[in-house]
Amino acid sequence: MFPVIYSDEFLAHDTGRYHPERSERLTAIVEALKTVTWANKLDWQLPTPVPNRDVMPYIQKVHTRAYIDKVRQIAESGGGLLDLDTPVCPRSYDLALLAVSAWLDGVDKVLATNNPAFVLARPPGHHAERERGMGFCLFSNAAIAAYYALEQPGVNRVAILDWDVHHGNGTEAIVETNPNIIYCSLHQSPCYPGTGRASDRGKHNNVLNIPMAPGSTFESYQPAFENLVVPFLSDFQPNILIVSAGYDANSDDPLAEIALQPKDYGSFTDYLLKITRRILFGLEGGYALRALSQSVVATIEKCLL
Ligand SMILES: [Zn+2]
Repeated sequence: MFPVIYSDEFLAHDTGRYHPERSERLTAIVEALKTVTWANKLDWQLPTPVPNRDVMPYIQKVHTRAYIDKVRQIAESGGGLLDLDTPVCPRSYDLALLAVSAWLDGVDKVLATNNPAFVLARPPGHHAERERGMGFCLFSNAAIAAYYALEQPGVNRVAILDWDVHHGNGTEAIVETNPNIIYCSLHQSPCYPGTGRASDRGKHNNVLNIPMAPGSTFESYQPAFENLVVPFLSDFQPNILIVSAGYDANSDDPLAEIALQPKDYGSFTDYLLKITRRILFGLEGGYALRALSQSVVATIEKCLL
């Protein structure tokens, strides 16, 4: 059985009428996963409700109290904007906490089973910095999950791979000071948010940025995986691999100009499974609904083989 951690509650993070990061993204993925021939192999799990799991100590490891309070206050006051792209609705704060709980559940699941799991939650996280949210992201789910994982028995090394088409500026800035975490990102360059130069290697040589030119296809991603991503991740021998799984590098995606196909994410997953089966996939971006849902299907399908 393959664990998928998901709640319909995540649909209530309301970003407004024309926002690309909308609830239909999750609905499309759930719909696709319920209609695959192997749907009976999916183990749908609700995230631990926040009153039952105190996520705050982990969030406070990577975000300032002032920033956390700011998000809560905007939500409590009826909603508003963290930046022009990043709306907070009245329920967004609670749902961002629930999303963190889902990612932490994912870590628990992967460590308990030595097998992959997928977190289908929103809001996404990889652009959120220590003191500010941006780019549709409220809290840095992947970084919080990484710090949480390091507190679990037998976990000394955590790897994060970010294949969202955008550079995870927030994740990198948060984890680059920790020698027990490595961060690797493939992202379109030039593109939002403008960070992620190949020369940025982190404070402990623990960052690997791989900028990809607009128009890139699997032809250029394949050697990047084989020559850069796989050696970087496997040399580190991570106890768990967290994937910031954004699917906006698809050719159909409206937010960027990379030209991957959904099945290419299955190929990426194959590379990772040769490194470890302890992989937590967590949803980041991906805005073309059909390509997004097919890509999640391709990712999970490889984990079942
Ligand atoms: Zn993205």
